[in-house]
Amino acid sequence: MLRESVRALAEAKIAPSAAAVDEEARFPQEARDALEANDLHAVHVPEEFGGAGGDALAAVIVIEEVARVCASSSLIPAVNKLGSLPVMLSGSKELKEKYLRPLAEARAMFSYCLSEPDAGSDAAGMKTKAVRDGDHYVLNGVKRWITNAGVSDYYTVMAVTDPSKRSRGISAFVVEKDDEGVSFGAPEKKLGIKGSPTREVYLDNVRIPADRMIGEEGTGFATAMRTLDHTRITIAAQALGIAQGALDYAVGYVKEREQFGRPIADFQGVQFMLADMAMKVETARQMTYAAAGRSEREEKDLTFFGAAAKCFASDAAMEVTTDAVQLLGGYGYTRDYPLERMMRDAKITQIYEGTNQIQRVVMAKQLLK
Ligand SMILES: Cc1cc2nc3c(=O)[nH]c(=O)nc-3n(C[C@H](O)[C@H](O)[C@H](O)COP(=O)(O)OP(=O)(O)OC[C@H]3O[C@@H](n4cnc5c(N)ncnc54)[C@H](O)[C@@H]3O)c2cc1C
Repeated sequence: MLRESVRALAEAKIAPSAAAVDEEARFPQEARDALEANDLHAVHVPEEFGGAGGDALAAVIVIEEVARVCASSSLIPAVNKLGSLPVMLSGSKELKEKYLRPLAEARAMFSYCLSEPDAGSDAAGMKTKAVRDGDHYVLNGVKRWITNAGVSDYYTVMAVTDPSKRSRGISAFVVEKDDEGVSFGAPEKKLGIKGSPTREVYLDNVRIPADRMIGEEGTGFATAMRTLDHTRITIAAQALGIAQGALDYAVGYVKEREQFGRPIADFQGVQFMLADMAMKVETARQMTYAAAGRSEREEKDLTFFGAAAKCFASDAAMEVTTDAVQLLGGYGYTRDYPLERMMRDAKITQIYEGTNQIQRVVMAKQLLK
């Protein structure tokens, strides 16, 4: 039911502008409007705070189906979850009420600010500081690569509160777009997901009330990592959707395109490629849905499953989209067809929320502990 309705919406309202959104590198406002109008922009928010109360699998299906037609647009529900999950996992009741309700009611979007220019894979090496001053904290620093920066109203920001404690000296805060001292860099010029704005977030003496801290002081990094355990599954879903979109398009094409007097689908060399692609897509789906179950039940092996699903699905998406371009021959290499966009979009899923090397580090750590 959910899949059918998201697919119908994505086909009708999001797919038609996917190529233009990529070409013009513009935010897919029509996708945002359609998702919000249908309460699909943040299905993870509990009913208690005005949300749809969807489980982890529901969020996965929404993201998968949107990514199948437009990866940039799928970052609207995905990053709304990424940005707000720290509040859901560790925030006070008041903080949840204050920030989850506007998100649920489509009055605000959320972003997640962990990375910095010199702190990517080694996120605990961040330099952004938050210094206590009476009933306030004052934040200074630069966050880099922030998805939907400038569009989002709320930003979960990880900052150092005690430099002597490394990861245990990091705390999480909610910063608002309109807080004095918040500004944004120019949009990055990217290979793919061009419709999703990625910008730096500058924090220049941003003074916020102390009750904007998420959880206790010093717990921010743990909250940030716990968040990624859950949300890497949404990146797996995005990768899965991109791969499914590429496979569907390639299957349609090979039945139409004729060479040597017959459809190219008649050639076994083509059929074997399609079979391998479908096998990878389905394996990625099983991994992603299994991980979503772990996320929902907060199971002990969530960390492993989140990393494994993201890593496997994103590698599969890169392979499947590359093969799909190949199946269209020269046409696949042009912007007249959607496959080169899907191939460019797939690449990011191997990089963000931790590169796939880092996912392997995470998995190995779980195995060896
Ligand atoms: C489009 C886009 C959107 C993003 N959105 C967000 C966002 O919303 N919020 C946010 O906080 N961040 C975001 N990021 C940041 C992203 O998570 C980082 O880019 C990523 O974690 C890698 O960090 P880095 O780019 O600094 O690469 P580096 O850490 O410098 O890595 C460079 C290379 O070294 C490898 N490497 C590093 N350490 C190891 C190791 N220990 N073992 C093996 N290999 C290693 C990496 O795998 C990679 O291949 C985004 C990035 C992009 C490009």
